[in-house]
Amino acid sequence: MVTEKSAIFIIFGGSGDLAHRKLYPSLFRLYKSGILKDHFAVIGTARRPWSDDYFRETVITSLKDYFDDSEDIMKGFAKHFFYQSHDVNDSEHYIALKNLAAKLDDQFEAGHNRVYYMAIAPRFFGTVAEHINSEGLKTTDGYNRLVIEKPFGRDLDSACELNGNISKAFPEDDIYRIDHYLGKEMIQDIPHIRANNPKLEAAMNNKYVSNIQITLAESLGVEDRGGYYETAGVLRDMVQNHIMQIIGAVASDDPEATDAKIIHKNKTDLFSSLKKLTPEGVDTDFVRGQYDTDKLGDKKAYRQEDNVAEDSNIETFVAGNIQFNTKRWSGVPFYVRSGKRMPEKSSRIDIVFNDKVDEVGIKPNTVVTLLIERVNGNSILINGIDYKESGQDFISFPEEAEFDKAREAYESLIIDILSGNRVHFTLWDELRSTWKYIDTIRNRWDEQTPDFPNYLSGSMGPDAAEMLLERNGNSWVWDD
Ligand code: NAD
Repeated sequence: MVTEKSAIFIIFGGSGDLAHRKLYPSLFRLYKSGILKDHFAVIGTARRPWSDDYFRETVITSLKDYFDDSEDIMKGFAKHFFYQSHDVNDSEHYIALKNLAAKLDDQFEAGHNRVYYMAIAPRFFGTVAEHINSEGLKTTDGYNRLVIEKPFGRDLDSACELNGNISKAFPEDDIYRIDHYLGKEMIQDIPHIRANNPKLEAAMNNKYVSNIQITLAESLGVEDRGGYYETAGVLRDMVQNHIMQIIGAVASDDPEATDAKIIHKNKTDLFSSLKKLTPEGVDTDFVRGQYDTDKLGDKKAYRQEDNVAEDSNIETFVAGNIQFNTKRWSGVPFYVRSGKRMPEKSSRIDIVFNDKVDEVGIKPNTVVTLLIERVNGNSILINGIDYKESGQDFISFPEEAEFDKAREAYESLIIDILSGNRVHFTLWDELRSTWKYIDTIRNRWDEQTPDFPNYLSGSMGPDAAEMLLERNGNSWVWDD
């Protein structure tokens, strides 16, 4: 049964790319399903002086890229949208925002609930959060939830500073740090798959797992985001957040847990037991790369992209061997890999079992692949074929009868925000541990000059990424 939710959304950066490509389409789907119906309004804020009508037109134009619903339905939805021009540093603008939110709350009977969404450059997160608090935007008889996008800092120090600023204004329980991978169906399903398949769960430990591989590969380059990428690199952009959170879903203890506090404690415990890296360990356990042109010389190398320095040392590829000091996982390599301009887009987790796993009823050396984005309709493979046709029966998985291709990770995350469910969001303690780990790699890399570019567009990355596994007698399951 669908329960209608009530809230006023204030979207800082309401004219931006994230808002138009992800948030408005997700809100529209919630509208169509009745979760958002009569008792909500969206205030978009940005610097430009737009009218409500113009703002609504931009929203409808974006929706048309994703939906073929009638103009009437889209207009009915857009009636809930309002625009407020806003400069993040101007206190007066927050007062105007507060008054508009109060007026719309009365008009739509939105229950005094507020969702403050930071779809704005990260350097503004702290300022906006502080002003929301100091200018009295928060209501006293509804909820006030702050939603923050990545990146959450660029190292441990800046993440601490940012966290210090926002936590002066919002208690941790009201902060929803988005990692959109945590909104993806497969990532949310992993604990259920483990909890409901006793043989699989009995094998999920260092007695039976040879290694676990996590690949987030993209075929595209940086496209028009060169300027942003120059400040980030794939280690910060993908490993610190998405890859670590995927490991959290695969490897946390107690997959049966349903209580948010217990789930987060298990994840925090896992991350705080990341095996400490030494600077020399970074040299042996991590590989970085930057894309060159392709075999034919047709594609731009990273250093030729717009807004990228000609001598840039930013990495567009990373592979590494991450280990944990826990009873369950000690000694098991988690091989992680993410890169741009790889042969195709692929997001997958490969669990490679060893030759003793038949002790728990799984054929020796079985590989279980969890596809984070379905491929040809498949979501779980055993030794490369659909699990239902594999001849092994240690996995059953109640898949949805009809997979909803258009469902956005953001849609389920917004429902969670409206329901006060923080299970699928990142807590500060988790970030602290992962940033600390990533900083060791970054600091080591910053001391050295890499030999870039070092892989061709359309290839699997630098050769060293293959050697990282071969050294231990392993190899990547997903290979070209
Ligand atoms: P964008 O540049 O498209 O939009 C930024 C918005 O901020 C615009 O609405 C702009 O008008 C507004 N803005 C800029 N300066 C302002 C000021 N001084 N006062 C008030 N408003 C101001 O950026 P984006 O791609 O939408 O990204 C927004 C945030 O989301 C960033 O933190 C980004 O890292 C994060 N993010 C974006 C994506 C994505 O797919 N675009 C994905 C993950 C995270």
